[in-house]
Amino acid sequence: MLASLGNLPELARQLSGLGGCTHPVRLDGHRTEYDVDTRTGEIGSVLHHLDSASLPAGQLLVRCNNRRATRCPACAEVYRRDTYHLITAGLRGGKGTSDQVATHPRVFATFTAPGFGPVHNRRTDGRPCRCGTHHDQEDAALGTPLNPDSYDYEAAVLWNAHAGALWRRFSIYLGRKVAKRAGLTQRTFRDHARISFAKVAEYQKRGAVHFHAVIRIDGPEGGDTSPPPWATAELLTDSIRAAATTARIDGPVIDGRAYAFAFGRQLDVRPIRSADFDGGQELTERAVAAYIAKYATKGAETATGTLDRPIRFLAELAQARISDHARRMIRTAWALGARKDLEHLRLRAWAHTLGFRGHFSTKSRRYSTTLGALRTARAAWRRAQTAPPAPQDGDTTLVLAHWVFAGTGLSAAETWLAASLEPAIGTEGEPTWTTVTTS
Ligand SMILES: [Zn+2]
Ligand SMILES: [Zn+2]
Repeated sequence: MLASLGNLPELARQLSGLGGCTHPVRLDGHRTEYDVDTRTGEIGSVLHHLDSASLPAGQLLVRCNNRRATRCPACAEVYRRDTYHLITAGLRGGKGTSDQVATHPRVFATFTAPGFGPVHNRRTDGRPCRCGTHHDQEDAALGTPLNPDSYDYEAAVLWNAHAGALWRRFSIYLGRKVAKRAGLTQRTFRDHARISFAKVAEYQKRGAVHFHAVIRIDGPEGGDTSPPPWATAELLTDSIRAAATTARIDGPVIDGRAYAFAFGRQLDVRPIRSADFDGGQELTERAVAAYIAKYATKGAETATGTLDRPIRFLAELAQARISDHARRMIRTAWALGARKDLEHLRLRAWAHTLGFRGHFSTKSRRYSTTLGALRTARAAWRRAQTAPPAPQDGDTTLVLAHWVFAGTGLSAAETWLAASLEPAIGTEGEPTWTTVTTS
């Protein structure tokens, strides 16, 4: 095996650049950087040339950047950390966001799904579940229906499919509610304040999507401008409650039943404190950021035990090692997906996510930096570690590159070598979240 690895130290160096990614994208091609004289526009000497064939692995290897922890732990970790920094920037400032945002009213809110039938649960009052059992935290039965035959699977899947639209409706209502409380019209509201948010979708054990969000009031130009004096965390909380209770989305009519979707009654809204203050009703910035980041890397497969990739045929379900509840959710999505009138919900393509086809984490434009900006900054840093010195002032460079997809993954030998390298994952002082319970 060693013979097939060619120059071991060089290959090890290339693999370590993947930061532990086990499913990299392989590319064939080349990239050439030329020096360009800005005054004459003349293309000068070659500054840097890279040919994939000359690389130790024979190809350029690029991180897969998969968000899912079950697919690529290393890339999911990078995504989690980026999300942490993105959320933190919106709470404390940094990465291009003014640190003034720390003084703006902001809350952490959790929006739940409605009920689709009784499920096995752990009660906080110490009494047993309705089935008579005291389920322990790891019990696979938790979140699964007490009676699967009467559980409303269609509504559960359709809820997931409409949750994104319900969130958008909510955010429109929120703007109106805040404006109304401030005594402003819709039209003039934007001259006074902006509402920004960052949210993450999380699956409850029962396979229903719910949302956690940081919601903030800024001044008219976003995070860099002061919110008006009427903007308080109390006003924001009241408005969120009012908007969440009234937001409603009409769903399809199936076999004479008209579906409509609204958030569940459980709505948790808490102010976020600036100082690291633990306990009580208020959350700290660090805790909120850690929580959102943690859920950004989890799909339905983590909470509900479903599949982490799309299915192509229903028959694949027979081999899948998933819970009966997840199987039933997927079957329901698949069956509904055959309906012409539900085509727009793409329920077959999203059966593995139990009908939810939205983004797992989204934010409004003015919340803070973007994941893309963080990735670009990291890539630039990596290049700086390996690339030749940057050109002098007044010069510019021309980059010609051509890359062709050549597959994914590592060879058996590369996997072996990569496994022997310590992935460079450190911690940057983020706390790990330990005690959050969501029903
Ligand atoms: Zn990866
Ligand atoms: Zn039970």
